[in-house]
Order: sequence, then C-alpha cells, then structure tokens
Amino acid sequence: MEQIQQELSTKSTQLINKENKYGAHNYHPLPVVLERGEGVYVWDVDGKKYFDFLSAYSAVNQGHCHPKIVGAMMKQAQALTLTSRAFYNDQLGNYEEYITNYFGFDKVLPMNTGAEAVETALKICRKWAYEVKGIDENQAQIVVCENNFHGRTTTIISFSNDEGARKNFGPYTEGFIKIPYDNLEALEKTLASSKNIAGFLVEPIQGEAGVYVPSEGYLAKAKALCEQYNVLFIADEVQTGIARTGKLLAVHHEKVQPDILILGKAISGGVYPVSAVLANDAVMNVIKPGQHGSTFGGNPVAAAVAVAALEVVKEEQLAENAERLGVILRAGLNKIAEKNPLITLVRGKGLLNAIVVDSDEESDLAWNICLKFRDLGLLAKPTHGNKIRLAPPLVITEEQINECLSIIEKALQAFV
Ligand code: PMP
Repeated sequence: MEQIQQELSTKSTQLINKENKYGAHNYHPLPVVLERGEGVYVWDVDGKKYFDFLSAYSAVNQGHCHPKIVGAMMKQAQALTLTSRAFYNDQLGNYEEYITNYFGFDKVLPMNTGAEAVETALKICRKWAYEVKGIDENQAQIVVCENNFHGRTTTIISFSNDEGARKNFGPYTEGFIKIPYDNLEALEKTLASSKNIAGFLVEPIQGEAGVYVPSEGYLAKAKALCEQYNVLFIADEVQTGIARTGKLLAVHHEKVQPDILILGKAISGGVYPVSAVLANDAVMNVIKPGQHGSTFGGNPVAAAVAVAALEVVKEEQLAENAERLGVILRAGLNKIAEKNPLITLVRGKGLLNAIVVDSDEESDLAWNICLKFRDLGLLAKPTHGNKIRLAPPLVITEEQINECLSIIEKALQAFV
C-alpha cells in the first residue's frame, strides 16, 4: 500500500496545535486548515484547492460564500444588526411572510441553531398537548426514533442512544419513548398504547446515523398514523431540508406536510446561524408573549440572509440539480463498488449520500480513506466509524461530479 497520508505544512500544524491547546476538545477534525471558499471549492492555508463533500453538514447547499447571500448580509449588517424582539424591525415580517409562503404554513418561529429549533418544536408540541389535545399536566410523551440525531442540548441528548453524546450528562429529561426507525408497526403499537402521546419527532432521512433512507411509504404512512391518533408529526429537516435530497423538503418525496417543520443549516446558505420552526395557527398559537424566545432569533441580518438564501434555492433550481446529480453520483459510486470490495453499500437521496466501507465501526479505515480523499483534493468525513457521507454543495455540476468520482476511485484503490 502506498503512503496514506501527506505531511502537513508548518503553517497548518501551527494552527492545528493552537486549536488543540486553547480550544475544548469536543471535535476531532480532519487535519486540514481552510481559509477560503467559493461555490463547491475550499482552499487551505497553503493554497491547495479541494471539493467540499461535507458542505458543513448540509448548511452550505448554495455553495460557499454565495455572492447574493453574502451581499444581503453585508447590506443588512451596515443598516441594522440586532434589535432583539423587544422592538419590531423592518426585515422580520418580510422574512416571515416569505418563508411561510415558501413552505406552506401559517406561521414561523425564528431561532438560530438546529438544536434550538428542535427544542422549540418539542416545547410547542408539549404545550399543544396540554392546551389543545387535553393531556393531563406533565404526562405528555413524544415518540422519537433509535439512532436519531437532533442536536446537543440536555433534553435532546436525553433521548439519544449515542453513548458518546449521553454518557455522564445526566440526569436526563423525561417524556420520550424511543422506537426503531423505519418501523410502522412499532409506531402504531406505541401510538395505540397510550392517550398521552403528543408528537412523533422524526428525521426523514437519518443523516448523522449514516444517511439511513427509510423504506418508501414510511413517512406518508407515519403521518397518516399520527393523524389517526391525533399526534403531531414533527419533521426535523435541519439536514435534509432546503433541496438537499432532491426536493425542497425530504418529506415532499412522499407528499407529506408535517404538523411541525424544523429547519436550520441551509436556510442561511451557511453564512449565519438561522433556524426556524413552522406550523399552522392551531398549533403555533399555543405560544404567547413571554413563553419562548431568543435574543438573536429573528434578527434583521438573519431575516435578510434567509430570504436571499431561499431565493437562491429557487433561482438556481438546486432541488432539481440535487435530484439529477444524485442519480449520477450514486450510479458512479455503485460502479466503483462493483470493482472495489472496500465499498459494501452506497445509499442516499439527491445529494445526501453515504458509502459504507468494509470494516467495523471502531476501525480507522474510513478515516484513512478520508485522509486519502483529502490528499487528492476532496474533503469528506466519516460518520459512525465506517460510513463516509458524500454531500457536496448543490451548485455542483455534472462535470465536477465526474471529476470527484475519479478522485474517489483513485483514493480507494490505494487501500486494496
Ligand atoms: N437536527 C438534525 C437532523 C441535524 O442533522 C442537526 C445537526 N447535524 C441538528 C438537528 C442540530 O443542528 P445544530 O448543530 O445547528 O444545533
């Protein structure tokens, strides 16, 4: 086997050492230090160019530093940045009108990060359960799925089954029932088992778990079951949303309109933390003044940036591009897999994809493959040990996808 890893430059090493010394060790980044991005490309501090196949966990769907989005941010940053919600601002109403029409809901509640939006959805769901559905105080249960990823707050990790995310962060928040993902029987049994079920929180594709795509019909049938039992269907589209899977929302593949929709990441094209919870009045109106909020949520910069980022998705037909190029990417990966036994599985939808490599979750094979990708000019990161997510910005072209397939093929050959 040829040498796996290239030497890092002194400049990169110094910058990495600084993060190691002064930053908390809550991440394990791939050793590459980036300083610039444009479209599908990023450049490191030594000027080397890479394809970005992570897109900041699907936040940079519109491509790095999209001029329209950055322009909107700069313009608004010079006019007014933050008022808090103690006062009105001239951007928020426009954004709220735009995003609710865009996704077909009566109202939006603006927040900043994905985890905050999930927390917001859980609070709205519980309040709805007590004040509309009529569940007894403190008895509400929310159904979640095994191997979920919804963020890092204390409540959210309470219903994670990732030991690393949970261990020694207890005591945990109660009120969640965990069932297997992609299992309608388990869902129906659980919904039928108690009158205290308020909601079902689900990722339309489990991204962090390794891009698990559920069986066809799962989401539509799960939504129908929720309707039957008067339970809110809550879709966490923080990672799958905004055109990533080849439709504006992943639930649109099954023509589902969630009762509560959670968005984050790409609502801003990755230039600013923006998240949102959308619902119709019958649900959203349970929240009254003083009951929930955020200093930065709905600030004028976020509002202006989000409108520009959502416009780009439509103007540049990013959903259509993701759908078309996803098919080409998976076909190319499957072709490589036929020749290279290291890839045991290719899966995904649109441009949210993963390859599973032939090793257990503890092996460093996928990590070493990602180092080889890096050396050949493509950045990706393993998730849960033996899966490598392949999710480029949605502005990528067919020619670039083919170039990336060659890199992937060449990199994998180094390991057989
Ligand atoms: N939900 C899902 C489905 C996610 O993939 C993520 C982030 N990977 C989050 C929530 C949390 O988002 P954030 O990191 O912005 O808090």
